[in-house]
Amino acid sequence: MLSAFALDGGAMHGIVPKPLWERVHPADAQNRIALVARALLVDDATSGARTLIEVGAGQRWSPKERAIYGFAPGPDVPDLLRLAGVDPDTVTHVVLTHLHWDHAGGLVLSGDEPALAFPRAEHVIGRACLAHAEHPNEKDAGSFRPDDLARLRRDGTIRLWDEGDPLAPGVTGRLAHGHTEGQIIPWILERDDGPPLAIPTDLIPTRSHLKPGWVMAYDNRPTVTAAEKRALIGELAAIGGGVVLYHDPLVEAAFARDSGRGPELVPARLDGSMITP
Ligand SMILES: [Zn+2]
Repeated sequence: MLSAFALDGGAMHGIVPKPLWERVHPADAQNRIALVARALLVDDATSGARTLIEVGAGQRWSPKERAIYGFAPGPDVPDLLRLAGVDPDTVTHVVLTHLHWDHAGGLVLSGDEPALAFPRAEHVIGRACLAHAEHPNEKDAGSFRPDDLARLRRDGTIRLWDEGDPLAPGVTGRLAHGHTEGQIIPWILERDDGPPLAIPTDLIPTRSHLKPGWVMAYDNRPTVTAAEKRALIGELAAIGGGVVLYHDPLVEAAFARDSGRGPELVPARLDGSMITP
């Protein structure tokens, strides 16, 4: 399930020079690159639970914000699910890897009377992540929507998650700290339709971030991001797993391969089949 927007290409690539990243992500007149928010629905056959991982940026944006971030107009998240043939009331769990607006903006519907998109679901959020979102630092304070978090606390169900706790049926989780405090990395180890998958979202947002050293200026701790990415690639290589590329507009996944220079991630489809250029 996708929603589209755009962010500054330089901020997305930290210290990487534009001539290098622009080959992969062409910039528009405002230096923005096209991005998506790729939410994932996980059905657990054993329990019947249905987990939505991320809710995307949503549609509750002002004209000014739409102009800055290029949000494509479209349906709210529950309507996107209906269009895909899924009854949104059947979503039992919403896992939010972190609470930046391009991951959690879809928590609240865009109508005149804002309401939670998934009032019946249990919202699973990292304990340190929520604490940070409610008391952010000056660098990433603009990435949160305090009104949405207050509404979720008031009207919704939140389960604060610590590493080692069960995350959701069929989905396990780890923590990462380079991008922001206590980001959850969900893992789906048993899949009917492909090898194991991790969903590192902003740890590896697009295919140009598959290289450990290509980290975003948005990261609070860029060297930690690089180390976490390197460790994740090693773990995925050991089990033949891959990652979902949450923000890449064209390539939905990447899978581990060892071509003799050590493990690396290469662009692929969600079923694990490689994309040949
Ligand atoms: Zn983020």
